[in-house]
Amino acid sequence: MIDAAGLIVASAHDAARIAGLQYTPTRSIRGQLTLLSPGTTPSIAMPVIGDGYAVPLIDGTTLTGATYELDNPDTSLRAAGNRENLERVTQMLPAFAGVRDSAATETLAGRVAFRCVTSDRMPMIGQFADEAAAARDTQRLRSAWPLDLPRSESLYGAFAYGSRGLVWAALGAELIASQIEGEPWPLERDLVEDIDPARFLVRALRQVP
Ligand SMILES: Cc1cc2nc3c(=O)[nH]c(=O)nc-3n(C[C@H](O)[C@H](O)[C@H](O)COP(=O)(O)OP(=O)(O)OC[C@H]3O[C@@H](n4cnc5c(N)ncnc54)[C@H](O)[C@@H]3O)c2cc1C
Repeated sequence: MIDAAGLIVASAHDAARIAGLQYTPTRSIRGQLTLLSPGTTPSIAMPVIGDGYAVPLIDGTTLTGATYELDNPDTSLRAAGNRENLERVTQMLPAFAGVRDSAATETLAGRVAFRCVTSDRMPMIGQFADEAAAARDTQRLRSAWPLDLPRSESLYGAFAYGSRGLVWAALGAELIASQIEGEPWPLERDLVEDIDPARFLVRALRQVP
């Protein structure tokens, strides 16, 4: 038997299914990275980031990326994705034009992964609503604020970070820890409501005739 203060579902695209939630409109965005071998690119001393990025890795490889393709489930590396990455880097760093024009884009190394996003492009971080309890009380909850919603006791989510997981994850974890411990939140209430996993339920309830 496990005894815990809370359960946090952090399984990206599968979070809604695991938590049994209906009001979690997540989608998948394919992202392809391109790796340029040492010695094949102009030397850059530090990461350059703008509309795309070029990052010098420790072994001399240059990492470039990334494509942004909605609902494309293809896990294989695609030449078109490599071309797109090289074009984007060349826009930032014209010295890469030679690489863009001469690279055999069909054979470049890289990686494909999938971002999990919501329809409003904000992450889902915080305590889940009790959707079944809300469904039994729709008339009263039609004009409810997120704070008024019935919540699933001890059940939290942290997913749909989109392209910002690395920068947002620690703050998201701090928010959930504060909610579990009943401590002051590290974010103002408006922002917490913007990333509340129950916000799509609140919006659906407001449409109830
Ligand atoms: C191409 C690309 C570029 C990116 N660039 C950036 C960037 O520059 N800056 C930035 O901040 N972020 C970036 N991100 C986003 C960042 O990587 C993600 O936001 C972050 O990984 C999301 O973390 P997560 O834990 O929510 O999801 P994931 O990292 O997808 O982790 C979900 C985990 O749940 C597991 N899982 C799924 N289903 C189940 C199940 N049924 N049971 C058990 N486990 C399960 C998976 O195996 C996985 O380990 C990028 C993402 C991609 C794809």
